[in-house]
Amino acid sequence: MTHIYNFSAGPAVLPKEVLAQAAADMLDWHGSGMSVMEMSHRGPEFISIYQAAERDLRELLAVPANYKILFMQGGGLAQNAIVPLNLVGHKAQPATIDFVHTGSWSGKSIKEAARYATVNVAASGKAGAFTGVPPQSEWQLTPDAAYLHVCTNETIDGVEYNFVPELPAGATIVADMSSHILSRPVDVSRYGVIFGGAQKNIGPAGLTLVIVREDLLGKALAICPSAFDWKTVADNESMYNTPPTYAIYIAGLVFQWLKRQGGVAEMERRNIAKAELLYAALDADDFYQNRVAKEYRSRMNVPFYLRDESKNEAFLAGAKQRGLLQLKGHKSVGGMRASIYNAMPIEGVQALVDYLNEFAGR
Ligand code: PMP
Repeated sequence: MTHIYNFSAGPAVLPKEVLAQAAADMLDWHGSGMSVMEMSHRGPEFISIYQAAERDLRELLAVPANYKILFMQGGGLAQNAIVPLNLVGHKAQPATIDFVHTGSWSGKSIKEAARYATVNVAASGKAGAFTGVPPQSEWQLTPDAAYLHVCTNETIDGVEYNFVPELPAGATIVADMSSHILSRPVDVSRYGVIFGGAQKNIGPAGLTLVIVREDLLGKALAICPSAFDWKTVADNESMYNTPPTYAIYIAGLVFQWLKRQGGVAEMERRNIAKAELLYAALDADDFYQNRVAKEYRSRMNVPFYLRDESKNEAFLAGAKQRGLLQLKGHKSVGGMRASIYNAMPIEGVQALVDYLNEFAGR
């Protein structure tokens, strides 16, 4: 049988070992006589799963003790509302939020935040068709902004930050890391809030992670729904409402898998190797094209175009025949996209590169 490699942008490939473990645990978790799906979120079995997941994530990302890790629902798009609802309540209304517009996802964040605050687009990559991050020297920041929002990896545009913004002391950075969290080490202390949907590098859709510095809790607008108030969620150890228990369990298995692989430093090493291999094949001649400036090319999401777009369908059909799945680009930008998250082995990238070379007649 052809080996299958899944290049989906999310929900995305998960480590085979994790899926096998979940299958083995499915009917009876550790002799409890229950599937994890059937457990009370307040019972000792699930609490042990939750606590291990929290502890392992804290260790993997070296999350400092003065940060809370919240396991929420609603995905990245819900956080686009939940973040401003939580961070502008202490300001004179309407508060101002700064944004750097680097592609589709930060664009959606800007639109949603405008319902709760005044938004200032401090810089935009739009004129350059979102092929890089505008240099920080050009950002027009608001002196008393509630916070600065950045999307550190634009999943559709394939643009990834290679720097952490430098802000004056006391200013807060909020980062949407949905599509590259855990792919590289990150200095959490440089950010006030990091959030991300789970369905790329962490586990199944339905779980959203929020890492928030404690002094930022308790600043919510009065209209913020209780279940979305980070302080309420934190005070209740993510169990104010029923958390997405099964997704947390799978995320916990992924965290254990990451630790066995050598953690995020090892992931970064592998992700650099995979990305270099793939971009080299795309850059070999002008048969394919990735338009992102080299220093901002994403290690996770690699959009590319065929020079002759009339070959798109043939390219995808041939890829499918070789077990290379879900390579079609996002409908908003067209072309192709290969997402090469942590769980994509280098063998999968090599198989894609072999096919790229073959299709290009090299
Ligand atoms: N932010 C980023 C960077 C994303 O990639 C996505 C999903 N692809 C979202 C936000 C939205 O996530 P969700 O669909 O889980 O709301």
